[in-house]
Amino acid sequence: MINKLGFGFLHLPKKGEEFDWDTICDLVDAYMAGGGKFFDTCYTYLDGNSERAIKECVVQRKARESFEICEKLPGYLCKSYADCQKYFDEELARCGVEYFDILMLHYLKEENYAIAEKYDEFRFLREKKAQGLAKRIGFSFHGRAALLEKILTAHPEVDVVLIQLNYLDWESEGVQSRLCYETCLRHGKKVMAMEPLKGGTIANIPPEAEEVLRSVHPDWTPADWGLRFVQSLPGVEVCLSGMNAMEQVRANIRPFAPLGDRENAALMQAREIICSKTAIGCSGCGYCEPHCPKGIPIPRYFKLYNEVSRYPGDGWKIKISYRQVSGGKASACIGCHSCEKHCPQNLEISNLMKTIAQRFEG
Ligand code: SF4
Ligand code: SF4
Repeated sequence: MINKLGFGFLHLPKKGEEFDWDTICDLVDAYMAGGGKFFDTCYTYLDGNSERAIKECVVQRKARESFEICEKLPGYLCKSYADCQKYFDEELARCGVEYFDILMLHYLKEENYAIAEKYDEFRFLREKKAQGLAKRIGFSFHGRAALLEKILTAHPEVDVVLIQLNYLDWESEGVQSRLCYETCLRHGKKVMAMEPLKGGTIANIPPEAEEVLRSVHPDWTPADWGLRFVQSLPGVEVCLSGMNAMEQVRANIRPFAPLGDRENAALMQAREIICSKTAIGCSGCGYCEPHCPKGIPIPRYFKLYNEVSRYPGDGWKIKISYRQVSGGKASACIGCHSCEKHCPQNLEISNLMKTIAQRFEG
């Protein structure tokens, strides 16, 4: 039996506008009572509240040796090598720890990798490891496999890589889950997985796909399948899940036997069905939205478009919902591509806005 579940502190529960600190502590307790010990955070998550939650709900309540923290350095914000130290010191203080179990460069893709090389940020990671301030080092990755190959060839010192890994993106052109996973293994790196449920898409699949999965394991939910697929892959050390409800923690922490051939075949069949019914592979991460000068709520429109593609009969209702969404309409898109630079799924958002405008405003 295995369980490689890591607790991602990116989507924490709220009570109204405030973070619900008591519930976060309860979730941490339930996760650790189930055998979990791995927490993931980043300088830029939740305006610093992710690190605050690490400090107040984990570090100040648990023995240091009973948990591990993966922290990410926002190398893309650095304007010099010295900036790395500035952010790192702030991260230690925000989390209330003296070292990190894993220190990663955050969000490596073409532009951010160029910045990392310009300011020698991998040297900074090596230094922290030599000083015992980071037990292991690595990076989180949002590019294509060819870039990953280039980085790992240039930086064999890296211990672990965090990649987007799920069965829907396994063969996708935008994310290239399988190719990235195989690249890590070829370089002898441990793999950490993010987006195992593709922003919730995998927890809410079309009934036809769910039927295929239920025929093999009637008591497994689609989310169980998604998480178990990733954790069954050899070389995957941790599978991050952003959990904000007790039932999620209790369900996800259960140990299970790795998937076999019959289960993998069912998943691939389900994937075919889901892909045929998902027009736009948006994970709903929201990274694009703050960069749109027209205030277009991009992921909400993609969600509506996917709904209308899946249930064409509901088109009139969905069109009303579209009108009621506040923010810029799809037709307001000026094609500046600013959003696309931040899309981990590499979607051609500006082109898709034309399609959305035609469907909902035509
Ligand atoms: S391309 Fe369109 S949707 Fe994207 S940032 Fe520019 S205006 Fe917004
Ligand atoms: S369009 Fe891309 S960046 Fe925006 S929410 Fe979807 S996946 Fe995330």
